[in-house]
Amino acid sequence: MSAVNKERLVKRFSEYVGYDSESFHEKALGERVRNDLQALGLTVTTEGTDPDYLREHPEGFPNIYALLPGTAQGDPLLFAAHLDTVSPGKGKEALVKEDGGIVSKGDTVLGADDVSGLSAIFEALSVIKEKNLPHPDIEVLISPAEEVFCEGAKKFDFTSIRSKSAYVLDLTGPIGRAALAAPSIISFSIKVNGRAAHAGFEPEKGINALNIAVEALKDIKTGHIDKDTTVNFGTIRGGTGKNVVPETIEITGEVRSMDHSHALSVKDEIFERFDKAAKNAGGKVSVSFSEHVKAYRVAQTSDTVEKFLKAAEETGLKTEFIETFGGSDGNYYNEIGIETIVLASGMEKVHTTAEFTTVDALVRAAELTINLMTI
Ligand SMILES: [Zn+2]
Repeated sequence: MSAVNKERLVKRFSEYVGYDSESFHEKALGERVRNDLQALGLTVTTEGTDPDYLREHPEGFPNIYALLPGTAQGDPLLFAAHLDTVSPGKGKEALVKEDGGIVSKGDTVLGADDVSGLSAIFEALSVIKEKNLPHPDIEVLISPAEEVFCEGAKKFDFTSIRSKSAYVLDLTGPIGRAALAAPSIISFSIKVNGRAAHAGFEPEKGINALNIAVEALKDIKTGHIDKDTTVNFGTIRGGTGKNVVPETIEITGEVRSMDHSHALSVKDEIFERFDKAAKNAGGKVSVSFSEHVKAYRVAQTSDTVEKFLKAAEETGLKTEFIETFGGSDGNYYNEIGIETIVLASGMEKVHTTAEFTTVDALVRAAELTINLMTI
């Protein structure tokens, strides 16, 4: 018999979904989550987030850190999820269907990304308290602004975190799936500068920025350029009129790779091609880039994975290890030295209005979390 209280779990899920919580606008849900953690008897603090971040995002909320002191021997463990959703996320409502499916009204995302993670953590904590289950120190970290390259978690001071292992509940797919690797994500912007000229009277006096861009782009592969790496050019903007030789073209894009240094060198190659094409035509380029998250890979033999395997077995789950091409707070936690894997928590078709979950998946995720917390 599962110890999970299905009604309580679905009620909490639906209530949390009902809060507007787009990135940098998590205040209402943040206050609710903080109060709920306090009501469960955890020691909760919202200190520890850079005050500048909070000044910049007055409708946002700080990282929420909570501790449930251990009642048994064992290494402390960190459980994490995020507060924010992508848009369209205003006016969300969770519709629970007869067959156990849970969907939005169709004009917003559902927000199971990441309310599914929040509800798994809360239900597990509730059951542990209720049944007095023995557990090591359990740390909980709920971040804001994860959907914008983990902006929130990056602004948290981790010096007081005790755990060496963490589970981020924030992944699509069947419960029992875990992401052991995720890529570096580097975004870039390239501005090609040529010279404007009238397209009819004296086009030869112009330097066509679009032609420079085309020349550079023609030999750059996009999509999966190798097994571990993707390249995309996402926006192209430029020109001032149909009858003007385009003076500037601005292109943005990104590189993802499971190998951080490879991601950097692919980005460099792209910049070099633009530079060469511009020089050949008498133009110029200016480039900029941001390293958003860093690639990680956790070994299957690690403690963090072994604990997960044991808990999944106790839950009766089939396990599956994947490499994801998406980033998460897990990238950042690994980067700062907390061995972290990302677990499926009950979310499908995320970042679309067709996003859904099921009551069954929420229950399974909560059961898995209980077993992880109580080993
Ligand atoms: Zn997420």
